[in-house]
Amino acid sequence: MSSASRAAHANSTAPDIFDAIIIGAGICGMYQLYRLRELGLAVRVFEAGSGVGGTWYWNRYPGARFDSESYTYGYSFSASLAEQWDWSEHFSAQPETLRYLEFAAQQFDLLKDIQFNARVAQAHYDKQAKQWIVTTHSGVQARAHYLITAVGVLSAPYTPSISGRDEFQGESWHTAHGPHRAIDLSDKRVGVIGAGATAVQLITEVAKNVGQLTVFQRTANFCIPLNNRPINTHEQTTLKASYGVMFERCRQTFGAFLHDFDPRSAFDVSDQEREIIYERLWNEPGFGFWLGNFHDIVSDPRANETIAEFVRKKIRQRVNDPVVAERLTPRDHCFGTKRVPLESGYYEAYNRPNVELVDLKSTPIEQITATGIKTVERQYPCDIIIFATGFDAVTGALTRMDIRGEEGIALKDKWADGPRTYLGLQIAGFPNLFTVVGAHNAANFCNVPRCGEQNVEWVSDCIRYMGEHQLTRITATVDAEEAWRAHCEDVVSHTLFGATDSWFMGANIPGKKRMFLGYGGGLPRYREKCDAVAAAGYQGFILE
Ligand SMILES: Cc1cc2nc3c(=O)[nH]c(=O)nc-3n(C[C@H](O)[C@H](O)[C@H](O)COP(=O)(O)OP(=O)(O)OC[C@H]3O[C@@H](n4cnc5c(N)ncnc54)[C@H](O)[C@@H]3O)c2cc1C
Repeated sequence: MSSASRAAHANSTAPDIFDAIIIGAGICGMYQLYRLRELGLAVRVFEAGSGVGGTWYWNRYPGARFDSESYTYGYSFSASLAEQWDWSEHFSAQPETLRYLEFAAQQFDLLKDIQFNARVAQAHYDKQAKQWIVTTHSGVQARAHYLITAVGVLSAPYTPSISGRDEFQGESWHTAHGPHRAIDLSDKRVGVIGAGATAVQLITEVAKNVGQLTVFQRTANFCIPLNNRPINTHEQTTLKASYGVMFERCRQTFGAFLHDFDPRSAFDVSDQEREIIYERLWNEPGFGFWLGNFHDIVSDPRANETIAEFVRKKIRQRVNDPVVAERLTPRDHCFGTKRVPLESGYYEAYNRPNVELVDLKSTPIEQITATGIKTVERQYPCDIIIFATGFDAVTGALTRMDIRGEEGIALKDKWADGPRTYLGLQIAGFPNLFTVVGAHNAANFCNVPRCGEQNVEWVSDCIRYMGEHQLTRITATVDAEEAWRAHCEDVVSHTLFGATDSWFMGANIPGKKRMFLGYGGGLPRYREKCDAVAAAGYQGFILE
């Protein structure tokens, strides 16, 4: 496809016109840029941060690292990139992942098309001109035929409004907005609010060298061992030789990890055999214990209880104080229905004399004061407060922008009763807008880059198809959108996810519609559906 228009100079006063604008320069936005450039399109990426990397640019808290096997997370499209990059650990830490993404950006010469420090405030569709008008917070404006959001699944940080938050005189930050420098906490009193996957990584690391650490926990989680270790020279060679096989495996598994559900029921084996299997999986690296377990642990409460009880037993064995162990023991939700945190000594952190756990269910926070955190029971003095309070997941980064479709309807109004999309990739009434890793998309319950690349490739193929057929406009039909939403709800209704308050369900954000935000059918089924739609000439879309 030849460029419809060529971009003017980035700093001129007239709005620049591009074939496509991408919002976000994380792993998915970068790949989308690469693919669209391959099609010959003039592309501009707007990125709020000052560098590439998305999640790995923003989240620099102590302990931040992969839960995906490093080598399954990197780009699969370039054999040369895979060959050049040596991951140092099976689950590498954030600085290494950021270096990897910076290296990829350099290798593919991506930086020249990315405008950094450019947070998009508005994207309005101009029906007459058939263009998206995109405006950043600083007033930079650009127009494009296509708009592609790659704004991330966990990229809109959420900090609860606790009374007195602004009164605090010490340092305080959300984990996604922490300092871009090493921090010495050895003589500090640190309060961490939260107990999800990020908090588990953070607490474990901070506990190793801190004056006093107080953890404020609302919900205890089922945490399982990461079992990380360095990659030795022999493994490095073997890994590089097996990239093709490994990526093919990831294409076929439910969550695009190396692990996949066991087709057997938890009750197909004896109690004794089940215990041996659980013990083996417990010692495996990564998500094997969750995503490589009996398939019915996510659908049958009785099967789930067998694994939940196994984890509860492990917690009791690892935490010295039985009262603390009980506080850390989840009893209000099924195993795996919240994002399972992977840990490397989390439970043992609570055996240290300078680490205290406060249960917010029995003693809620009353307010933040100038000097610390006050619960209904007592005051906890803090020098630093870290909010590990998660994200307005999946939809937050989209609804925080003023995105308006062809009739001027705001996306956040359209989604007031929960997201409506077709394939998680398009929205009726918003022509030529594609949402990579959007709502009701398999990428939200996935080894994200593997699902993200499926999204990017599907969108790129669609744009190529439009060019080849002299089409200029694509919009999902309302019927297709409604059918997709019903399908997503039907799929998840056969699982246990709906019963648990989690970010998967949007339940961590006050006022947010409670609904499963991803696609619960797994990547292979999702890909099949997307491919079938494309093969049928983009069924469910109006092309003009
Ligand atoms: C701490 C943490 C650990 C994680 N670990 C894993 C893991 O091990 N495995 C896994 O599969 N997933 C993991 N995830 C999920 C992770 O978000 C994805 O793996 C992946 O990084 C998503 O890539 P992305 O490009 O879609 O989005 P992101 O990496 O989130 O990038 C989105 C980009 O869009 C930008 N942006 C957003 N809104 C705007 C706007 N209005 N204007 C301009 N720019 C904007 C953001 O600044 C950001 O740079 C983790 C997430 C977190 C927070």
